[in-house]
Amino acid sequence: MHVYHVVYEPTFKSIIFHHWTECNLKCLGCYCKVEKLDFSLLPDWQMRVSTNPPEKPPERLLSLDEAMALTENLAIERAISIGVEPSLDPGMPLLAREMKSRHHTYNILFTNGVALADLSSIDEVIFSLKAVTPELYRNYTGGDNRKSMANFRRVYDSGKKLQAEITLVPGAIEANEIEKVAEFIASVDNNIPLRITGFIQLSGQPFRAPTGAEVEAAAALAKKHLKTVNYLSGEMPRVGTPPIRLF
Ligand code: SF4
Repeated sequence: MHVYHVVYEPTFKSIIFHHWTECNLKCLGCYCKVEKLDFSLLPDWQMRVSTNPPEKPPERLLSLDEAMALTENLAIERAISIGVEPSLDPGMPLLAREMKSRHHTYNILFTNGVALADLSSIDEVIFSLKAVTPELYRNYTGGDNRKSMANFRRVYDSGKKLQAEITLVPGAIEANEIEKVAEFIASVDNNIPLRITGFIQLSGQPFRAPTGAEVEAAAALAKKHLKTVNYLSGEMPRVGTPPIRLF
């Protein structure tokens, strides 16, 4: 298994498994390249991602048994797989299955959607769509977006709960592209929620963070096509008890 970092959120009874694989995309705005720790543990995470040098791969990965041992005696309702493309971790479906069997968790997978793993123990998939215009997607990720768009429809057709997310990156992924992404999502089902996040300045990249007004304007365009659009500017206050690093 490729889990290198585990965080527990007592307030939300959530456990977050961070995976590390050889990602099938090379996004210009990849925060994992400069910070491996969960941002919820880092009050200064925005400063860190804007100044940190490139990260090295994790020194140690957990086995399935080790990961499950960390969950003992915790009240857990949600298990979240996140990080450097969890779909590519062959241990992810086994981890989801074990969490469901031992803790009856609601399992959430964050993915770029390029390759889909066994989703039989996953309850909800959150797709990071990046862009729908092929050239923009290629310039930003180095990849081809046909697979992720086809997989988005495939997951929807399977009846699994589905959400989408996208980052507004001034100079790369602009508001008009976010509107196109919203149109694509609406062509599948306009009830699928979209979350828009404002880019946070990243060391080694020329792009700036959008203003709150710019994120709001992008959300207004997306709302023309979708019933539910949420947005985050990166300045949201933390709520609840501080998270705990389990590994
Ligand atoms: S898909 Fe995610 S992990 Fe992979 S390069 Fe893009 S941002 Fe990074």
